[in-house]
Amino acid sequence: MKNKYLFVFFLLAALSLAGYGFTRLSGSGDKREGEELVIVTSFYPMQIAAMNVAGDCEGVRVECLSEPQTGCLHDYQLTPQDMILLSGADVFIVNGGGIESFLDEAAAEYPDLVIIDAGKEIFSESGMQDDAAEGGSPAGGEGPEGEAHHHEENAHAWMSIRHYRQQIGTICQGLVQADPAHREDYERNRDRYLKEIDEVEEKAGEVKVLTAGEPVLIFHEAYEYLAEELGMQVEGVLNLDEERQVSAGELAQIVTAIRQQQIRVLLAEEQYGRDTAEAVEQETGCSVYYLDTLVRGEVRGDAWIRGMLQNLEIMKEALGG
Ligand SMILES: [Zn+2]
Repeated sequence: MKNKYLFVFFLLAALSLAGYGFTRLSGSGDKREGEELVIVTSFYPMQIAAMNVAGDCEGVRVECLSEPQTGCLHDYQLTPQDMILLSGADVFIVNGGGIESFLDEAAAEYPDLVIIDAGKEIFSESGMQDDAAEGGSPAGGEGPEGEAHHHEENAHAWMSIRHYRQQIGTICQGLVQADPAHREDYERNRDRYLKEIDEVEEKAGEVKVLTAGEPVLIFHEAYEYLAEELGMQVEGVLNLDEERQVSAGELAQIVTAIRQQQIRVLLAEEQYGRDTAEAVEQETGCSVYYLDTLVRGEVRGDAWIRGMLQNLEIMKEALGG
């Protein structure tokens, strides 16, 4: 929302509408009858997930904290609009794994806010779990230690089909606890959505036939999970974002690695990876494929499924010929 005042107006309008528009059977006790349950999500993938679990429930509204175009929440700072939104929220759904660096601040500011950590089954309590314990072995993940940053543990859980499924389950569980009156709705929606995700799983199975064992170089940590689920050999992860570009020396190392390990496939992100990817492409003649990190886009229920299917199609085409 560009205009703060307009936003406040809408918020007030929505709240007053909720006053007579909905009749909500009080389940949790602390919500008055007729009051709307406001679910705020931290960013786009959580918004899409929450929409699927709760979007069609009467008297439940799903909002998103950051603008859909924010992308990954790298060092995101809460805006005044975010604070207004959170102050009216009942439930706050986050991805976890440390990606919401403002979480402690929000929790302290709004002690009554129910926080659902969708990644709690995936990430360790501290968000600093040893990579080896996760099962996946991120090759080349020799990140510097010490700094509390979400990339020490790959927080991009929504980019893993398996982890995303877990997140849907955790979100549903948290919502049932916060709002037992809608239990049936939430659980039915969860089951329907998980069933829809089966299509993605099947497609991944098809693609895996082509990708299994294939060495790959990754220019964005977000793709590591998918590459692993496709049975690919992750030879290196270079995390390129707005603050991180590649030096000439690193570029030379990458080129050498590609030649030595006969890497044919590189996965990059449009926004931050293109310059490096094109330079590597030119040097080595190997192909770069641009996948969607699924952190921005149209707000629609099937956004994750469509995005993931498209990513898989790109991988299929990359190795199909
Ligand atoms: Zn990220």
